[in-house]
Amino acid sequence: MTSEKFTVEKVLSIQRWADNLFSFSMTRPAHFKFTAGQFARIGLQVDGELIVRAYSVVSSPYDETLEFFSIVVPDGAFTSRLKDLQVGDELYLEKIPYGFLTLARYQQPLPHDLWLLATGTGLAPFLSMLQDFETWQNYQKINLVYSVRTQAELAYVERIQEIAATFGEGHTGFQFVPIITRDPQAILHQRLPVLIENGQLEAVVGQQFNPETSHIMLCGNPQMVEDTKEALKQRGLSMNRRGEGNIAVENYW
Ligand code: NAP
Repeated sequence: MTSEKFTVEKVLSIQRWADNLFSFSMTRPAHFKFTAGQFARIGLQVDGELIVRAYSVVSSPYDETLEFFSIVVPDGAFTSRLKDLQVGDELYLEKIPYGFLTLARYQQPLPHDLWLLATGTGLAPFLSMLQDFETWQNYQKINLVYSVRTQAELAYVERIQEIAATFGEGHTGFQFVPIITRDPQAILHQRLPVLIENGQLEAVVGQQFNPETSHIMLCGNPQMVEDTKEALKQRGLSMNRRGEGNIAVENYW
């Protein structure tokens, strides 16, 4: 069963961001094709049993390796072991990718302004999308909004700047908007639904949500996804169904 569904891959690198946050990369088998925004299912052998969890791919679909971004869940059966990974260790990778949080799902409205709203490790699928030139060609305005609890948990900031410089070279419409919810000194420190309701997010970005033009993706804390969806609906934005509508979501756990 394992060998039919999974391949065995090797850990190539590990980057630790904070005590509870790290990224790792691993080998990518040639058959593993995915679209930016999709997730992989990764397995670990624990006491002779295979435990599997979903992880959105951080890397671009064109990269030779696969990168993932993980939180350490206290006492979590999977991540409490995953956090001790070493380069060279083996991980299982399910052969097919999953998920519908991809830009290709949007048919109407046509691409114009893209809002990528993440909390915590929900940032991952958006990093993949931003490493695809097509994203930058298709959208005039791209707002990446990333909410974390503390400054120390704000991972990937330099990489985001590098990605924007490389993939979005010459693009003038990119904005990275960090939110640090437990730092009252931060420019934005309230939760996403509040910042939408009070207009502060749009004020900082310098643009308004627009049912006629906006594509809005939410990924991260399931309660954030729920509450933000409601705040956006109050503003006249609709869920994307069968290709039509503004909002697409993915719960991260
Ligand atoms: P988090 O609690 O999800 O917080 C990350 C950001 O989301 C913070 O800015 C937080 O604001 C904000 N947030 C939380 N609830 C929100 C809501 N209802 N509306 C809007 N914003 C909201 O922190 P995390 O570090 O990413 O994850 C925390 C815990 O979630 C972990 O310890 C773990 O137990 C679990 N988790 C599990 C998995 C899994 O795969 N099982 C994956 C990720 C996380 P505040 O500071 O105001 O709370």
